[in-house]
Amino acid sequence: MSVAVEAPPAANGASSSSPQYPDQYYYVDQILDRPGPRTDEAFSAGDPVKSFLREQCKILVIGAGGLGCEILANLALMGFKDIHVIDMDTIDISNLNRQFLFRPKDVGQPKATVAAEFIMKRVPGVKVTPYYGKIQDKDDDYYMQFNIVICGLDSVEARRWINATLVNLVDPENPESLKPLIDGGTEGFKGQSRVIFPTISSCYECSLDMLNKPTAFPICTIANTPRLPEHCIEWASVLEWPKVHADKKMDTDDPEHISWLYKVASKRAKEFKIEGVTWQLTQGVVKNIIPAIASTNAIIAASCCNEAFKIATTAAPFLNNYWMLIGTDGVYSYTFEHEKKSDCPVCGGETMDVEVGKGWTIERLIEWLTENQKIQIKKPSLSLGTKPIYFQAPPQLEESTRPNLEKKVHELIPEGGEVTVTASTLPFTLTLRLAFV
Ligand SMILES: [Zn+2]
Repeated sequence: MSVAVEAPPAANGASSSSPQYPDQYYYVDQILDRPGPRTDEAFSAGDPVKSFLREQCKILVIGAGGLGCEILANLALMGFKDIHVIDMDTIDISNLNRQFLFRPKDVGQPKATVAAEFIMKRVPGVKVTPYYGKIQDKDDDYYMQFNIVICGLDSVEARRWINATLVNLVDPENPESLKPLIDGGTEGFKGQSRVIFPTISSCYECSLDMLNKPTAFPICTIANTPRLPEHCIEWASVLEWPKVHADKKMDTDDPEHISWLYKVASKRAKEFKIEGVTWQLTQGVVKNIIPAIASTNAIIAASCCNEAFKIATTAAPFLNNYWMLIGTDGVYSYTFEHEKKSDCPVCGGETMDVEVGKGWTIERLIEWLTENQKIQIKKPSLSLGTKPIYFQAPPQLEESTRPNLEKKVHELIPEGGEVTVTASTLPFTLTLRLAFV
């Protein structure tokens, strides 16, 4: 059986003997030229929406790696014409299998620049402005110029930074200051995309406790009842390496060290009839590498760009507000509304109440802050009002506050006292109200 499909009209000027290519935006126009059952009330079909998408909308892509390459290509093909991209990395040969805007000749070049040039060459009429550097190099004025920001990052730190920056940018008097943030992330066969309207919907910081902790295997399983190839590798690296090499530190970048671990783990696996220990897996386990999967990147990037398109055109309601994809056992996906937290240090405005052990020292409190899933702050500095409790930097202040580390928390901070926590990596401060238990 054959299905008749109406051929798209040829682009202007195409003669009957040349191939019949449709206009570049023919298929996108099918969505924009008429309202559908789910279009927003604000949607005005035809030229106004096309003109906004193609002439006015300025979109920023953060990251030009696995997700970023896909995102840039999708946006360009959808009709976004003023695209900016930031990435601080250069191209490595190991990127080429999935970061498809790059070729062997590009190795060593900045990702942002090469990606921008590739897109402009391939999709006529699109302008991509690259910036090779860190997102932290740019100020509020820079971020104010965009209508939408999309992140395709592999760093929690960078996401926290851009999230807090966009939340701080919001001025209730100026609706233009509200920049929708679309965040995509992948980890092996899993991924998620989400839409954040800073100060209005749940922000990145609100969901910090959803991040996976790195997998740790119980030591008794590793030592006595291994079932997985990973258990054998952990046995070799955690138990056997220190036994055999005493003080010599394992270097996970040294191929000879990995080969030694591989040999020892393979022997162990054979004893327990476990299959699957390979050199690559050994390296992956000890370096904590989760393989990047090109198809996961493609799905998540498609979802992010779909949301950008819907926000820019109002052609359909956008995601509210979190979509997750799990491809490890079959394919499962789920959409839910992640709720805003009233005590979110970035968008909540309320002080976070925390319970602290009576006997805790300041050092213990700092350790707890770095381990806490909801806070996850590296190298925090603490103060009570204007009084420094402990500062990580500058060196003189660190030295003068260091004796406080051994003191009990309740000696320095009263019950109900509000402690200000800062860290150089985060563009916000956290206020904790302490209760002793
Ligand atoms: Zn928040």
